[in-house]
Amino acid sequence: MKILVINAGSSSIKYQLMDLADAHRYAVLASGLVEKIGEATGRVTHTIFTDGQEQRFVEENPLKNHHEGMSRVVALLTDPQRGVIRDAAEIEGVGHRVLSCGEVYSDTVRITPKVKATIREFFPLGPLHNPPNLMGIEVAEEFFPRAPQVAVFDTAFHQTMPPKAFLYAVPYEWYTRHRLRRYGFHGTSHKFITQATAEFIGKPLAKTNLISIHLGNGCSMAAVRHGKCVDTSMGVTPLEGLIMGTRSGDMDPAALEYIMGLTGMDIHQMVNALNKQSGLKGICGVNDMREVVEKAAGGDAQAETALQMFCYRIQKYIGAYLAVVPHVDAIVFTAGIGQNSAPVRERICTGLGHLGIRLDLAKNAARANGPRAIHQAGAPLQILVLPTNEELQIALETKQNITGA
Ligand code: AMP
Repeated sequence: MKILVINAGSSSIKYQLMDLADAHRYAVLASGLVEKIGEATGRVTHTIFTDGQEQRFVEENPLKNHHEGMSRVVALLTDPQRGVIRDAAEIEGVGHRVLSCGEVYSDTVRITPKVKATIREFFPLGPLHNPPNLMGIEVAEEFFPRAPQVAVFDTAFHQTMPPKAFLYAVPYEWYTRHRLRRYGFHGTSHKFITQATAEFIGKPLAKTNLISIHLGNGCSMAAVRHGKCVDTSMGVTPLEGLIMGTRSGDMDPAALEYIMGLTGMDIHQMVNALNKQSGLKGICGVNDMREVVEKAAGGDAQAETALQMFCYRIQKYIGAYLAVVPHVDAIVFTAGIGQNSAPVRERICTGLGHLGIRLDLAKNAARANGPRAIHQAGAPLQILVLPTNEELQIALETKQNITGA
C-alpha cells in the first residue's frame, strides 16, 4: 500500500513515500524536503530509491506558498525520470504529522472537518506547528482528493499519563478553563521505540517497562510501564525537560521576571531566547552535539560544561523514572545523538551502576547502525540503542486507520 507521509512546517514540507505491508516489509520509494517556502529562493531536495540505488535531485526556485511547494512534490513524484509513480492517484493514503490535539484525541484519526476544527482550536497551544500542519493537510486534500487523509498526533502516546504526572501545581482552573497541562511531544518516536523494545527483548508489549531517551535536535524522555506512557519530560510546549541544542529545558519561571527586568526583554523575546538561544548553544555557542563533543575533547571548558550539564540532566530524569516505573527492562537511546554519539551515552551511563545501569564500553564504542544491546553481560537492566523511525510509524498508523489492519 502506497502511503505518503507529510510533515509540514511554517516554511517547509518534509515528505516520504512508502510502499508498505507491515513494520518489517516496507520500502521507501522517495523522500524529500521543500524548504524556504515564501522566501526569495525556495529549494526542493528530492531523493528516489530504485533497485537499491539512491538518486538525489535539487531544484532551486521561489515557492510562493505551501500549495506551490506541494505541486512541486507531486510533479517530482510523477516525473518520468525523477519520479517513482505514474500518477498521484496511486497514493492510497496520506499520513500527516500533527503536533497537538490536546486531550481530544488519544489516537490516530481520519481527517474530517471536525478534526481540522480541533487542530485549529489548538493553534494557541501549538502556535509554531499546528497552523502549518493544518495548511499541509488542506494542500494535500487538494492534490490527493481520493486518498484518505490521516492525522498522527505527536502528543497522542502521552495521553495515558495520570493527572499526578500531567498537571502543573498551579491554580486548577488554568487546567479546566485554559487546558494548561503537560502534553509531551515526540510521542510517535517514543511509541515506535516502545514497540521496538518489546520486540527486541522478546516480551509482550503489555509487560514491557522502559525508559525511552530521544536525543536529537529536540530531546525528551518517556517513562513507559506495561507498554504505556506514564510520564514524559516535555510539557505544555516542547521547551520543558531536558537540555536541548538550543532549548533550556526545565528552569525556574521566576528567573524570567528577573532577567526581563534587567534587560528590558518582553515575554515573547524571552521565550524565543529560551527556545532558540539557550541549551548547548547558550552555554558553549554551538548546538550540534558533534561540535560540542569535539570542542570538549579539544579542551574547550565551556563545551565540557555544556556536555556535563546535558548528561547530568538526563541522569536525573533516569533516576526519577526508575523510581516511578518498577522493574524497568531497558533504557533505550534513540535519535541523532542517542543513536550516534558513543561519548554522550558513556557519560550518561557512567556512575549509574548502583541503579543497575552497566555499560559495556566496547559494545558502546563499536560502530553500528542497527538495533543493538550495549550493556554488560548479566547486568540487571538492558541498555539498548534502537533507531527510531517516525515516518514508518506514521505510515503504519495511516495504513491501519484506512484498512483496519
Ligand atoms: P535528529 O533530530 O534525530 O535528526 O538529530 C539531529 C542531531 O543529532 C544533530 O543536531 C546532531 O547534534 C546530532 N548528531 C548526529 N550525529 C551525531 C554524532 N555522530 N555525534 C553526536 N551527535 C550527533
